[in-house]
Amino acid sequence: MSVTEVPLRVHGEFVATMSHPFADSKVNDIVTCDAPLAPLTWLSLGGPAQYLARPRHVDDLSELIRIANANAIPWRVLAGGFNVLVRDQGVNGLVIHLVSPAFSDLEIQDKSVHVGSAVPLTALISQTARAGLSGLEQLTGVPGTVGGAVKSSAATRVVTLEPLIRRLTLMDADTDVVTMERQDLAPGQSWADLVEGDVILDLDLELTPDNPESVVKRMRNVWILKKEHQPYGHQASACIFRDPKPDRTAESLIEQAGLKGSRIGGAEVSVRNANYIVVEPNCQPGDVLRLIDLIRGEVERQFRVELALRLEVW
Ligand SMILES: Cc1cc2nc3c(=O)[nH]c(=O)nc-3n(C[C@H](O)[C@H](O)[C@H](O)COP(=O)(O)OP(=O)(O)OC[C@H]3O[C@@H](n4cnc5c(N)ncnc54)[C@H](O)[C@@H]3O)c2cc1C
Repeated sequence: MSVTEVPLRVHGEFVATMSHPFADSKVNDIVTCDAPLAPLTWLSLGGPAQYLARPRHVDDLSELIRIANANAIPWRVLAGGFNVLVRDQGVNGLVIHLVSPAFSDLEIQDKSVHVGSAVPLTALISQTARAGLSGLEQLTGVPGTVGGAVKSSAATRVVTLEPLIRRLTLMDADTDVVTMERQDLAPGQSWADLVEGDVILDLDLELTPDNPESVVKRMRNVWILKKEHQPYGHQASACIFRDPKPDRTAESLIEQAGLKGSRIGGAEVSVRNANYIVVEPNCQPGDVLRLIDLIRGEVERQFRVELALRLEVW
């Protein structure tokens, strides 16, 4: 098959080849067809992306989106892949894997931090802590990137990233680069709502000066607690539901429902924290989905609480 052609599949079965809409463009060399997504997600499950591209800079990104829009190709962004479960059949359309250094700037000046969306949250937290800036340390141990954290409203029971964001720059669906200020948020609106359908490029955060040793110490303490309350680091796992209320956590409801350790196929409700599913190498995406249904059904039956998914199913 030439690079100008892509496989056309129906229900996962190869039917024919069709021409490649990115072929005659300057992004041809960064687009891969029928590209495996499993290695790019923490769960390591699921089928390929019809098109996968890693933009080298903002121009590549706008060209990819422009061509996708012109050809009615759905597109989405993948960053660290810690909050995504890919189905067996994979993803129809373009997956933009945002990992290049062009999206990974990190500059700290006084109490202001300018950070690219592809920077790992852990790198941001440790560098700001060492620079004597407080505010992020309670997010220690949340895996993924800065962009993923904004989009999925990453939070711990104590803190979210949201109130620390002063300014956010994004590329919208028309490929315009737009900068939003905190005051652009309507009452009750979150940054995650504001960036729906857009690509987050970078953020400006405002943190609080503090003694570096104290911040690093708090960071270490949070990490010790976090590690104890999530699956072991070597286990592929996902945090499944949002907490219905701060004092009524998904973890406690699932545990009270007697579901800790429940399993379907290669997927198991973590015995360390019931709001995580851990997967074994033989696991299929369907095992995770059926286990999610089982948990939801049982929690609803026993407590009349509808659990909302934190994990995205693609
Ligand atoms: C062991 C473990 C522990 C976890 N603990 C926590 C926790 O304590 N708190 C918590 O909130 N979450 C937790 N999570 C979930 C996960 O870490 C967060 O959701 C994280 O923010 C995902 O970041 P990511 O870079 O992996 O995003 P991805 O999983 O790649 O993407 C998540 C979403 O963000 C979008 N996205 C990513 N980057 C961009 C961008 N630049 N522009 C636009 N959209 C973008 C994607 O399209 C997708 O919709 C945990 C997960 C695991 C596996």
